[in-house]
Amino acid sequence: MFIKRLPTFEYHAPVSIAAALDLMARYKNNGRFIAGGTDLLLAMKKREIAPQHLISLNGIAALKGISLDKKGGVKIGALTTLAEIERSDIIKKQFLPLRDAVDVMASPQVRNLATIGGNLCSAVPSADTAPPLIALNASLTLVGPRGKRNVSVEAFFTGPKETVRKAHEILTAIMIPKPEPSSAGCYIKLMRRHAMDLAIVGVAAYLKLDAGKKVCKEARIALGAVAPTPIRVPEVEALLVNKAIDEKLVTEAARIAGMQCRPISDIRASLDYRCSMVEVLTRRAVMEAYRRITA
Ligand SMILES: Cc1cc2nc3c(=O)[nH]c(=O)nc-3n(C[C@H](O)[C@H](O)[C@H](O)COP(=O)(O)OP(=O)(O)OC[C@H]3O[C@@H](n4cnc5c(N)ncnc54)[C@H](O)[C@@H]3O)c2cc1C
Repeated sequence: MFIKRLPTFEYHAPVSIAAALDLMARYKNNGRFIAGGTDLLLAMKKREIAPQHLISLNGIAALKGISLDKKGGVKIGALTTLAEIERSDIIKKQFLPLRDAVDVMASPQVRNLATIGGNLCSAVPSADTAPPLIALNASLTLVGPRGKRNVSVEAFFTGPKETVRKAHEILTAIMIPKPEPSSAGCYIKLMRRHAMDLAIVGVAAYLKLDAGKKVCKEARIALGAVAPTPIRVPEVEALLVNKAIDEKLVTEAARIAGMQCRPISDIRASLDYRCSMVEVLTRRAVMEAYRRITA
């Protein structure tokens, strides 16, 4: 196989957010942040981009790690690798949809390098961490020369490979609120094979039930790889809320989800197949979220 060489670049290794921002201010359009490099270096090899200065975020300790905040939510540093998320007891116990996602991403070697922040900033429509984070109502912290701002993961994506992040801003952390009582979620990914493949369709579902664990009080359904950005399906969520969850209701909700998505036909699947699979996976994801609450 023909392997292209990387174009030449200068590599910078700052150890603080302030130093990384200073470097970006100096190199402007010629600079690019790099985390694990699993997306960026491929794009450079393909000559899609040719930054002359790569500003590594890897030496910045403040961007790494998984910790609970005072309110019981979790803060995940943007430079945390997918492998670290996979191994985290906090994620496994309380934020299972995210664990469902990293479990089926790439390969162990790639997961050791790839970061959650890089996955979000790359903003490809099939990015696996986006739907579960939207279903879990997560938000992001962006830091730039003018200070800090927070944005919901749902509002972060504006188009394929496009986000509200400005080129000089660093995504520093992902925050997921504390799970509510009687709530759970789930992420299911459809791929052509069981490893090292991008999503044909990804569906994340989150449900919160009443104290008796019968009636749905809140629902968030997020779809990946079926629109230019990950999307929520408010019509489906509205149908589920204030009703007792059963097969008939969920089947109807899934049918509506299949009609709400806006996929394209591409090398991985046709538009029609993707819509059918959204229906199938939405039914499975909602029923699995319900099972996780009631089991
Ligand atoms: C073989 C292979 C299999 C893959 N399989 C999957 C898969 O199954 N599912 C999936 O979703 N993805 C998959 N990917 C894509 C990729 O691994 C992920 O998107 C990865 O999480 C990107 O993270 P990174 O740290 O490598 O980002 P990088 O490549 O370092 O950066 C990606 C982009 O984000 C920017 N960036 C990174 N971090 C920050 C930050 N903190 N602040 C501001 N900007 C930042 C960079 O400037 C760059 O533009 C696969 C890739 C490969 C090579």
